[in-house]
Amino acid sequence: MINFTVGPVQMDPETQQIGAQQIPYFRTPEFSAVMKENESLLCKLFDAPENARVIFMTGSGTASMEGGVMNFFTQNDKVLVVNGGSFGHRFVELCQIHEIPYTEISLEYGQPLTQDILKNFENQGYTGMLLQLCETSTGILYDMNLVGDFCNRNNIFLFVDAVSGFLADKFSMKEMHVNAAITGSQKALSLPPSMSFTVMDSKAQERCTKNKVKSMYFNYADYLKNGERGQTPFTPAVATLLQLNDKLKRIEQNGGIQNVNNVIKKRAEYFRAKIKHLPFKMFTPENATSNCVTALIPTNQGISAYRIFEIIKDEYGIWICPNGGELAQKVFRVGHIGNITEEEINRLVAAFEDLQKRNLI
Ligand SMILES: *Cc1c(COP(=O)(O)O)cnc(C)c1O
Repeated sequence: MINFTVGPVQMDPETQQIGAQQIPYFRTPEFSAVMKENESLLCKLFDAPENARVIFMTGSGTASMEGGVMNFFTQNDKVLVVNGGSFGHRFVELCQIHEIPYTEISLEYGQPLTQDILKNFENQGYTGMLLQLCETSTGILYDMNLVGDFCNRNNIFLFVDAVSGFLADKFSMKEMHVNAAITGSQKALSLPPSMSFTVMDSKAQERCTKNKVKSMYFNYADYLKNGERGQTPFTPAVATLLQLNDKLKRIEQNGGIQNVNNVIKKRAEYFRAKIKHLPFKMFTPENATSNCVTALIPTNQGISAYRIFEIIKDEYGIWICPNGGELAQKVFRVGHIGNITEEEINRLVAAFEDLQKRNLI
């Protein structure tokens, strides 16, 4: 199978190799050193401010979305949540569950967040803002410079879910005034699913140290304390952390963030250029689309996007990514993260062309 989903994605051979080894014992100075290196390399890739720290959470991206909501905010906050797709909606649900007062900025799915929309929320006493860098369900890329300036002006704590956008799209905590940001192991880092990582500036650290969280596993103050000696409070997904270390070092040795960004961007552009003649249209405006994923709408009457996913899987041995909910019949997605070659993209395009010949799209 060739995998064009948005996660888990195709892993590098080096990552697979490490996954085949025995799991080492981890309460050792050797493992602590690996963790310290993971922390500093992640801070660098997020372009985090000085004294930033990282929380290594064993749990998928959603665990760190929830952990962030629990640790950074309280009932005394008043937060803005951008809901432009299923991950934005997840933040709304998390604020409900944890009783964080919130206002939802509800966007038409696939549409950008604009200055015009944001200006309604200036000087309204908001203390926090939550949104995705890339809303993976639609492929929209939010204008993080616009958001960061808005938050900076209004003294708003900015928590960004960069789970899918990290490495695919330009992202800088410093430039974009981001206080805390997360990513997950199975997205562009191309590791097995299992872990998610939160990079936190000093304000974020202060918030979770002061906050009395009613949870043992999600107590970030405890993670920060243990992290000082390169450890986690509980047994982490040790193999993933070793794979992370290898991956981060390889990124570092191969031109850093700039190069990864370029590789993924070029791959997305290559794919989008190759499908121009096919009966699909992009779900998001081209200038506001993430490099992580392309969401496509089949334009011919009566064609089900979900059916395309099924046929491509069963008859061509390729996974593309179906959509859920209301968009299931209307939209499918093609991911650009993970270890994907140009040859594999050509095979996907050839499969689409074949479907066209068979009058199936
Ligand atoms: C994948 C993803 C997540 C996390 O999903 P999990 O299934 O919990 O790993 C969160 N936010 C975004 C934007 C994502 O793409």
